[in-house]
Amino acid sequence: MIRKERLVVGHRPDGSSISLPIITVRGDGDKPNVFMGLTAHGDEITGHQSLWYLLDHLNEMRIKGLLKIAALINTEGFNYSIRGVPLSTIDMNRIYPGDGNGSIFERVAAKIWGMASKSDFVIDVHSAGLSIPFVLIHPAEPLIRDFMEEIAYSSGLTVLYNYDRDLYERMGLERSLSGTSVRNGVPALTLELPGFAGIDPTGAKAGFIALKNMLIEIGVFEGSKEAIDFTPVIKERGLKRIRVRSREAGLLQYEKWLGSKVKEGDIIARVRSLFGEIIEEVVAPQDGYILQVNGYYRTFTGSVVATLAVRS
Ligand SMILES: [Zn+2]
Repeated sequence: MIRKERLVVGHRPDGSSISLPIITVRGDGDKPNVFMGLTAHGDEITGHQSLWYLLDHLNEMRIKGLLKIAALINTEGFNYSIRGVPLSTIDMNRIYPGDGNGSIFERVAAKIWGMASKSDFVIDVHSAGLSIPFVLIHPAEPLIRDFMEEIAYSSGLTVLYNYDRDLYERMGLERSLSGTSVRNGVPALTLELPGFAGIDPTGAKAGFIALKNMLIEIGVFEGSKEAIDFTPVIKERGLKRIRVRSREAGLLQYEKWLGSKVKEGDIIARVRSLFGEIIEEVVAPQDGYILQVNGYYRTFTGSVVATLAVRS
């Protein structure tokens, strides 16, 4: 059974309602119960095409548990294709558990958290710009971490631990949906799909298969898992993500591309001035793989040029 409804959280000054599109897929029973959120960042929409595929393929699977999907979290940023919220510095994925009596955005977060906290597993779907698709594991106690790892690896995608603790905290990731879930004992994973501003069709297909595989492993669906062989997947286990920054500013000319293996000292990208001169060679600080590059191809002093997957 599929139910589609809009959960009204509040209103805009013009009187139109700010509502969350909620899809409930219910099978034989209520367990296991998975909550899935999409587009907490308004410009990250590849997951929607993965969701379309998932809904189109439901009849091929036996549905055993319950899947509740918030098809849009950042209602405002989505309409204008921006990560955050217009006229605000709020990041919708850094304000959990929200506040039911707070601002409209804190109320949205509180509604989302109300659903997520009651579930057995949370999957938060994002896009990571020019990247390969990957599944992120947030820091957690060993018991819950082992379970999350098992589900993450079942996705068929690259699996990574998050940034080192100090950067994780500095970025406020403890207050993300996945971070908050894990801190409260609800296993959660963040699915990062490719997609720079729009939808990446290959990433969407990878996302669909990864979601289906994880939902089978969790036990919401009964069906057969599929391998992902049409986009780079890093099979090595025990990797985390790190950022590589430029010292100089300018345009970026990449020498290594998504999914490729790099050795310590390999040139990832050259920074060129507007006169065409090479002013810096940005090198890999350690062995790893290229996970994500800067889709703007422009760097300020200290901007992130690439994200690498390295041994944790
Ligand atoms: Zn995001």
